[in-house]
Amino acid sequence: MKEVYIVTGASRGIGHAVATQLEQRGHTVVRMARSNPNELDNLIECDVTSERAAELLKDVLKTYEGSEAYTLINNAGIVEPIGVMGLVENDVIARAIEVNVTAPIQLANTFIQQLQNVKATKRIMNISSGAGRKTYDGWGVYGTTKAAIDHFSRIVFDEQKKMTQPIDIVAIAPGIIDTDMQTVIRSSSAESFPPLQRFLDYKEEGTLATPEETAERLIAYVQSDRMGTEPTADVRDLS
Ligand code: NAP
Repeated sequence: MKEVYIVTGASRGIGHAVATQLEQRGHTVVRMARSNPNELDNLIECDVTSERAAELLKDVLKTYEGSEAYTLINNAGIVEPIGVMGLVENDVIARAIEVNVTAPIQLANTFIQQLQNVKATKRIMNISSGAGRKTYDGWGVYGTTKAAIDHFSRIVFDEQKKMTQPIDIVAIAPGIIDTDMQTVIRSSSAESFPPLQRFLDYKEEGTLATPEETAERLIAYVQSDRMGTEPTADVRDLS
């Protein structure tokens, strides 16, 4: 079966591991990120918050017209600004919302516009976070963006159940993974991020998951019969 995957934030971290494993399994993968450190031919350098991103997604879907399965993995994300409210600069708040909420919603909207009536397997996997489901002091902005993407996924999940050619959607929390994002978290201060010590301990004790094992679990989920049965999920709950 010819399957096409569009993975945002696929230059490093979880997105890079997901895209690499999909490629190794023989799937067609188009990566999107602002940088291309490994000079990959299938990575489109693009900021997901730019108007170009949706146009590029349309082009990709057109290029691979006639495929049996299309999957959009909205993975690009930023954890900044980290800070208890009152310590955060107002001008960085909008950027977090653009990257973590507006961009994945716009890409999902374009994906749905282009594919709603196409007979194929169609899936949207939004990479969420436990930070959107539990409260962490210092993550007022980040946690809120992830809660927003969860709720967006719930609404689209309900809408799609009523369609004749439905699109599966899930917002999935990937666990706690040893990527650059964790380095950013560990470099914050206990004043701006009170749970800092817990995150320093995760690294010290070696309890962080690797991007590769996380990618395996995300791919297993998106390709399983469970995909499309629930609007939110957590890789840590999977057997
Ligand atoms: P990461 O290592 O910091 O990688 C982030 C990726 O997103 C990079 O490829 C980056 O590429 C891309 N990106 C960031 N801003 C972008 C933009 N404006 N346009 C296009 N691409 C952009 O982060 P990660 O840990 O792999 O996180 C991936 C996802 O998992 C995020 O949504 C994050 O919130 C979520 N998550 C992570 C953890 C964790 O413990 N790591 C836990 C829960 C959830 P460029 O810099 O090249 O653009």
